[in-house]
Amino acid sequence: MRLSRRALLGTGASLPFYNEAALAQNSDIGPIPEGAVRLNANENPLGPCPQALEALHAAAREGCRYFFDAGPRMAALLAAQEDLPSSCVAPFAGSSDPLHRAVLAFTGKGRPLITADPGYESPGIAAEFTGAGSIRVPLTKQWAHDVRAMLKAHPTPGLFYICNPNNPTGTTTPRGDIEWLLANKPAGAVLLLDEAYIHLCAEPRATDLVAAGKDLVILRTFSKIYGMAGLRAGVAIARPDLLGRLRGFGVGFLPSTGMVAAEASLKVPNLVPERRQIIAAIRNDLSGWLTARKIGFIPSVSNKLMIDVKRPGREVAGAMAAQGVYIGRSWPALPTHVRVTIGTQAEMERFKQVFAKVV
Ligand code: PLP
Repeated sequence: MRLSRRALLGTGASLPFYNEAALAQNSDIGPIPEGAVRLNANENPLGPCPQALEALHAAAREGCRYFFDAGPRMAALLAAQEDLPSSCVAPFAGSSDPLHRAVLAFTGKGRPLITADPGYESPGIAAEFTGAGSIRVPLTKQWAHDVRAMLKAHPTPGLFYICNPNNPTGTTTPRGDIEWLLANKPAGAVLLLDEAYIHLCAEPRATDLVAAGKDLVILRTFSKIYGMAGLRAGVAIARPDLLGRLRGFGVGFLPSTGMVAAEASLKVPNLVPERRQIIAAIRNDLSGWLTARKIGFIPSVSNKLMIDVKRPGREVAGAMAAQGVYIGRSWPALPTHVRVTIGTQAEMERFKQVFAKVV
């Protein structure tokens, strides 16, 4: 089914938009057996920190309440930590929600989405679904977003999507390029900057660009470094007028458990750098193992590696799944690469055993 944005808005149909099978979660590969190694969805096996678990247990005991203030309180804390007024941060149940809202709010007929290839597919799927359309612009040879080519891709873009660091490549786009795009894009177009994986690397955050009043919406999630994918918490960070344009879509209720766990996580000093270091050490070990075997991969600063298996990636993923190791998908632009999430060291040892047999 394909609906125009006009038809969607005409029927006030934001909920069917979310329910549509076309937007099925990209990493959902069906049931995974108990005890299998899950390296398919860029999850963080470290899970929620103890402080988050304590907070969500308390919230669960009070589960009869709506907890109206839990989301705004979490968002206000994040705003303070980023030196922003609290009006610039809005809480959501994860970052997929504001990502889809941004596509609805800022693209439309004749105002497509401009995204990267290979890139995170969700915004493009959403823009195709609404009829706004999307244009995929290849990454540069350094695997950065090609902002100059993205700007040339369409005369009246609605939304530019940059994922920094990128999913699936785990590579970064220089801050200067992000600033260049903001300075040169047509008036009215908005930049959606997805920082789902920013905590995993030392790249500069872009929140100061929000403070400077630029036309961008930053997405952050608690699904990755904070290990809370199933609990659902995230934020959109933008000027209040841009956040206001996201607000109209969806119902707005937030899970109390996700919100209090997110707030508790934000209060833990050093949680992010400690986890970044743990994940980097495991990623570096895997990179070294691959290099020693002359297996190609894209150097990554994130919790995933794109590994070149020199044959259709889907075949390798299937063969590995048969042995209890579930890895991620391949992208049409890189059909012989498979995306492998960095799990625990023990999980990666199991990965190496099975991978060595299969590849
Ligand atoms: N953005 C990117 C780049 C992702 O990889 C993901 C999930 O894998 C999301 C957004 C959505 O994450 P969530 O809705 O769990 O915050």
